[in-house]
Amino acid sequence: MAAQGTSALIDNSELIEAAKRRIEAELPESMKCFEVAQQVVPGASGRSRFFWPIPTYIDHADGAYMYDVDGRRYVDCVLGLGPMILGHRHPEVLSALQEQLERGWHFGPPVREEAALGRLIVDNVPGGERVVFVGSGTEASLAALHIARAATGRSRLAKFEGGYHGWHDFGMGSLRRAAGPPEQAQTTMDGLGRSPAAAHDIVALPFNHPAAFERIRREAADLACVFIEGVQASSCAVVAERDFVHELRAVCDECGVLLIFDEVITGFRLGPSGAAGYFDVTPDMTTLGKVIGGGFPIGAVCGRADLLNLILPNARGESVVMAGTFSANPMTMVAGKAQLSVLLRDDATYPALNRLGDRLRQGLTGALADTGVPGHITGAGSIYGVHLFAPAMPRSSRDRVDVSKRVGRVLDGYLLLEGVLQAPMHGFLSTAHSEADVDLVIGAYGKALARMKEEGFFAG
Ligand code: PMP
Repeated sequence: MAAQGTSALIDNSELIEAAKRRIEAELPESMKCFEVAQQVVPGASGRSRFFWPIPTYIDHADGAYMYDVDGRRYVDCVLGLGPMILGHRHPEVLSALQEQLERGWHFGPPVREEAALGRLIVDNVPGGERVVFVGSGTEASLAALHIARAATGRSRLAKFEGGYHGWHDFGMGSLRRAAGPPEQAQTTMDGLGRSPAAAHDIVALPFNHPAAFERIRREAADLACVFIEGVQASSCAVVAERDFVHELRAVCDECGVLLIFDEVITGFRLGPSGAAGYFDVTPDMTTLGKVIGGGFPIGAVCGRADLLNLILPNARGESVVMAGTFSANPMTMVAGKAQLSVLLRDDATYPALNRLGDRLRQGLTGALADTGVPGHITGAGSIYGVHLFAPAMPRSSRDRVDVSKRVGRVLDGYLLLEGVLQAPMHGFLSTAHSEADVDLVIGAYGKALARMKEEGFFAG
């Protein structure tokens, strides 16, 4: 969706600094928490980078809303960074958790809910014959890579620029910086302390660009798998094109390379069959997380039985290792089972949620147009992304406008003052959000953008 505006973007450090001070002044209790925390945790919190200028400290949450320590109420579009698709404290998830708490919360031996949650997953994920649980999406993609290597005897992996698969060495390769022409994309490594050898293992592919297919063919002899995130959340909800995903499937088949869908965000969010259903393509393996854990830590690898069975010892007693003290822990299994059961009960749930997403994307496009700020709104289903000043609909992370990221943080901050909390320039909706909540978010964008215009962030 495009908004035709006339303004030019002003990336002015003084304006940004003044906005920062104004926002901080409105959050005195959060400021106190932030200052105390900085004495102990570098940067106050692992979460700090998501929220600008400071993280709001949350006191409690209910349904579509979070309440901070300053007594402010927010329409929550962060949703725990994705998992809280039913909103907060959904009664069925809450009572399942309370019941489990009474019986004990961490054992070691398994609980029945592991198979029950697993059944809900394999019955809905295209190509899902078996599933194995771990503690996070990061662990899931690492495990999927190990399985792919064990299955193919090849060592390297390919991933798309702008896609995030966790914070291990390969998960962030070419995440923030694309280098080289699309035909010969070079791998960049985000984050210090990475092994240079890791970069060698990663083939960076241009997203939504046919050069990716030639590259896969060229590198096939060494390539175990290709990871793709159908909606790249870290690139502000840039969406893969359907024909592109279909051709990717065909090229992987042609080259004997395993296709892995990273559905940590999209799984059970776009619909019961996630991005695979959305694109109508069946991957060899799927990594999951977030929604399937009902708000508790989780990751999972789901896919063909012959691949997942590689975690069992072979004739030589060797296997792919998937471990973790908290893998398939009772609280997560119970919460995940309760959440998926609610989601899958009624065929109307996902269409209604996705309609809310359409309403939001349309409304945000209108808010940009009304304030004369050019930009584009991306996303699918209940996921949205905001690209200020993008000259055309972004089709890959290469199309993102750098300057808009800095100014976008000011927009995030002013939205906070209007009662909306979102992740950096993208967010999610839940089944707890009403049309009125969505309209409040749209109205908040209008006000925040108008304020920024008044303060001189947009010229013209
Ligand atoms: N893959 C994707 C697409 C993600 O968005 C994330 C987390 N945001 C991960 C993997 C990693 O999951 P986790 O944070 O649970 O390790």
